[in-house]
Amino acid sequence: MNLPIDRRSFLNLLAKGVLAGSGIWLCPSLALCKTAFDYALEGQDLIASKSYEKAVNVLQEAVRLDSKSDWAYGLLGRAYYGLNKKAEAVDAFRQAVRLNPGDTYSRMMIDIITQKPIPKLKKLKQPPTHLEREAEAEEKRMSTQLQSKGELAYQVNRVVIDAGHGGFDSGAVGLSGLKEKDVTLDIARRVHERLSRERSIKSFLTRMDDYYIPLSDRTVIANQYQADLFISIHINANENRKPHGSETYFCAGKASSKEAERVAAFENSVLKYDKPYKKKPGYIDIEGILFHFERKLYWEESGKFAKRYQERFRTELPLKNRGVHSANFFVLRTAKMPSILLELGFISNQEDERMLRQREFREKIAKAVVKGILL
Ligand SMILES: [Zn+2]
Repeated sequence: MNLPIDRRSFLNLLAKGVLAGSGIWLCPSLALCKTAFDYALEGQDLIASKSYEKAVNVLQEAVRLDSKSDWAYGLLGRAYYGLNKKAEAVDAFRQAVRLNPGDTYSRMMIDIITQKPIPKLKKLKQPPTHLEREAEAEEKRMSTQLQSKGELAYQVNRVVIDAGHGGFDSGAVGLSGLKEKDVTLDIARRVHERLSRERSIKSFLTRMDDYYIPLSDRTVIANQYQADLFISIHINANENRKPHGSETYFCAGKASSKEAERVAAFENSVLKYDKPYKKKPGYIDIEGILFHFERKLYWEESGKFAKRYQERFRTELPLKNRGVHSANFFVLRTAKMPSILLELGFISNQEDERMLRQREFREKIAKAVVKGILL
């Protein structure tokens, strides 16, 4: 047998017993025998445990040893992103995409990072600019147009389904230990599965597994997919175990009630973990100014969707109808499309929680959500 042999193959051989009695001895230092694959694997674990600094070091070694590994570059991008080193992250993701154009995750990350409104100027207190006046006129025009068309102005073809919470953020937890993040993911997957069977609809999920996505990234994803509708799935909770039933929310500057304000505060509470974006002086957010006007129209449409959904839930689900409400939900605020947030039962209520545990019940919910889109 000829040396050198890498560690992985060595261990494989060892496992098979080939080396027994062959006289080959393990490298004195295992590190010397590490391959790019080993480093990348180690980097992946370090990212999972949020040791981004160490992950960067290890992954740099991985790409040094194998400059053709799109996987290692993708991981390096994630590690840099974890350190908030956005320029480096974009660089690494770009390299991953160059090596593997089918790497949609890295592609998406580049868009997420570069699409973010980096800086924002203090509130403009001058009289409305030419651009603002134009936007206002456009808003009025669109508003009359929308109203004249009655119920909804267009057909929904692209939907983004957002499973609330995930990863370290469990959301609300029921008496028996049922976690909101698990229920929302399961329902979102079922909705996605059902929608995938519909020819006229393209459906996307913001998260496919149990991991955390910052609230702002969820709408960036929806904007990137150019969705016609964004549905964020949640399960409600209250300190009092009595409240039960379903509610549908849409975004508004002001909450429609104290209770709506409380729900939004809970759903927004995870924001404290998201890193704020550094603002560069001198930046004028033109798009933001225009969007400010556009947004009102989306919210109006969202209200119509919300009513339609709550009506579906009232007739199709064995949950008490708690109506349609509005509040300032961060996850809905920057969506460039109508967006709604569903609170499908109370995990804090014993009977609702019992139902939410059942597969059949989740399937029933998924069916009702899909019907709301197709109508
Ligand atoms: Zn929630």
